[in-house]
Amino acid sequence: MKKVWQHAFIRWSLGLLVSLTIGFLTGRVFLCLFLFVLIVLCSNLHQLYQFHSWIRRSGKSLPPEASGIWGDVFDAVHRLQKKQRKSKKRMRRALSRIENSTSALKEGVIMADNLGNLEWWNESAGQFLGLMKPVDRGQPITNIVRSPEFFRYFTQKRFSDPLIIKSPKSKGMYLEIQTTLYDKNDHLIFIRDITNLHLLEEMRKDFVANASHELKTPLTVIKGYLETLDMFKDTLPKSMQKGVVNMTEQSDRMEQLIEDLLLLSRLESNDKRETDQWHDVHELIRAIVNSVQVIGKDHTLQIDMQSDSKLYGSYKELYSAFSNLVVNAIKYSPNGGNIIITWKANSKEGVFSVQDEGLGIEARHISRLTERFFRVDKGRGSNTGGTGLGLAIVKHVLLHHDAKLDITSQVGNGSTFSCHFATARIQQPLIHST
Ligand code: ADP
Repeated sequence: MKKVWQHAFIRWSLGLLVSLTIGFLTGRVFLCLFLFVLIVLCSNLHQLYQFHSWIRRSGKSLPPEASGIWGDVFDAVHRLQKKQRKSKKRMRRALSRIENSTSALKEGVIMADNLGNLEWWNESAGQFLGLMKPVDRGQPITNIVRSPEFFRYFTQKRFSDPLIIKSPKSKGMYLEIQTTLYDKNDHLIFIRDITNLHLLEEMRKDFVANASHELKTPLTVIKGYLETLDMFKDTLPKSMQKGVVNMTEQSDRMEQLIEDLLLLSRLESNDKRETDQWHDVHELIRAIVNSVQVIGKDHTLQIDMQSDSKLYGSYKELYSAFSNLVVNAIKYSPNGGNIIITWKANSKEGVFSVQDEGLGIEARHISRLTERFFRVDKGRGSNTGGTGLGLAIVKHVLLHHDAKLDITSQVGNGSTFSCHFATARIQQPLIHST
């Protein structure tokens, strides 16, 4: 037992003994006992009153003087309060440091709840998006950033890649938005001003597009002369004849390269895109197969239509992406073999895939295949007359169609390139009841 309790016990026992003795001596034992209990009760009530008034003063002053158990209680509560005040102060200091450092950040930081309602933001985020305290607190972020791409990004939780949008507040400003989910699916949103980077990127795209365009005219002239030379090939010396064939091959390659670069920059800039429409995938595949018959004469091209559903998109872009995959399957199957082109659709997705029995690709290269000019082995691409841009074009076309490219491959056994489309872009055929 603690010392205070021992002392209190001794004091109460002594008091009880004294009152009993006086009671026996005076012959009024019960009266003496009652008086003793009354005194103990009053003294405890008094201390309780003192304690209550001190606590109601929020315990800021020193605790009232008291001895025994009550003194110990006062001291313990006082110590606890001091400790709590200290840790509150420390927390307030840490919080204000966090607030100061986040408001000094050039990047915008926003905290929103699981539904996207704004809870807190720093100064930069306020400036980027034109947020005002306290009016916008509690507002859904999609009411503030009113762009269709942002709405799709946020509501469909496409947070794996950052999103680039125009600032809703400052004209000409571009923002990169990155979102992380934390705790109970609350949103932590980082916003970065990437206007300069964006301008540089635009300059690069313009440069590539302009340079490719400018190269077209001189190349047309060179090709014209080469065609004339080709007509009189037989009159030329043997060494020159080989040169003409070589130059024609290389100028064709250069033409293809320029076409691919121009297509890629059109895809990147979203310029002059034809409006999306519903297309019959079977017809699209048939048109592609017809156009590649010449280069695929050593291969067996099989069409496996598992669905009659239609696909929503741009015909030119889809044609270009799908034919790139079919041409690749032919190019990288030097020993011929089967090439299966499949279209299937279910309640979850629509899948266009091209499966070949060709060279295959090592697993370590697969993630880099859609980079521009990336080739698994440098010789492989140039021998086949490829530009190294085909899969980059496929990637961009699929981006425009909210689709994903999936590649599986085994060296020596062939590859399968699959394009996965969301159900919103698939239209199942109408079933007529008889
Ligand atoms: P390229 O014009 O060189 O074919 P792509 O971008 O179309 O450029 O393809 C990039 C690289 O991916 C190719 O150089 C080739 O190494 C590899 N590749 C593409 N498709 C296949 C395939 N079906 N089988 C094996 N390798 C492939």
